[in-house]
Amino acid sequence: MKNLFSILLLICTFQLYAQTNTETKIPYCYDELTAPDFIKAVKQSSGVCLLPIGILEKHGPHLPLGTDIFECRKVATTAAEKEYCVVFPTYYMGQINEARHQPGTIAYSPELIWKILQETCDELSRNGIKKIIIVNGHGGNNDFLKYFCMSQLHSQKDYALIFYQPNESEDITKKINALRQTTTGGHADEMETSMMRYIRPDLVKTELAGSQSGKNQGRLAEIPNQYTGIWWYAQYPNHYAGDATKSSVELGKLVINAEADQLVELIKKVKLSNKIEDLQKQFYQESANPLNTKQ
Ligand SMILES: [Zn+2]
Repeated sequence: MKNLFSILLLICTFQLYAQTNTETKIPYCYDELTAPDFIKAVKQSSGVCLLPIGILEKHGPHLPLGTDIFECRKVATTAAEKEYCVVFPTYYMGQINEARHQPGTIAYSPELIWKILQETCDELSRNGIKKIIIVNGHGGNNDFLKYFCMSQLHSQKDYALIFYQPNESEDITKKINALRQTTTGGHADEMETSMMRYIRPDLVKTELAGSQSGKNQGRLAEIPNQYTGIWWYAQYPNHYAGDATKSSVELGKLVINAEADQLVELIKKVKLSNKIEDLQKQFYQESANPLNTKQ
């Protein structure tokens, strides 16, 4: 009888524990939150939201169009598992004019990608998210996103927009180099194929990786010292840079986790520090009256 009582007590305690546990644990994915839970999520995240930005474009003959979306979302969700913050839903409105000749590319106009990103950030801020961290998965977005961030200074904002910049440690570089089998790359290459084999192996058609050339065709080599929008097409018309006939799940896992770990560090720092917001405030005040700025 005493034993039965102990067992019952144990069951009740466990149920109570499980209940409180599910009550306190709220999803980190924005689209999975209820409205009441969203309020809790903003508080629990200290107003930090990750905005993973991918694209819809060809990734060689063997990877899916949404490869960059899968990659940046995996980095973001892995980080959010370790350090709670909100993760914005799938976002693929970026700069991809250079792949308009390939099937499946969705290249919105420059005006639209600017406006939709600005309004997304403004709307997040209106909802209490005051620290937005962009996690970019698409190389063709880098120049756009840096210019976009710099342009935020043109008018006063009540939030900080931060562009995550991963910096591989020497140790990670060594580990990556030990696993890498090819020396060229840049797009749909050994690294990206490895990442996709880790994230969604069912979507990788490794057997097709050698069916097109990923070599730099150097079609503008005769005109040195210049930059032109057609440069990528001149070098990689197949929208494939590198050799993905070699790849490994181990390499993909290493790269994703290394990027997620560095992102965790950034999230922790951003939660604790208001340095960016404070400097912005000071800057906006001074820029309203530049003649009063101490010389
Ligand atoms: Zn990619």
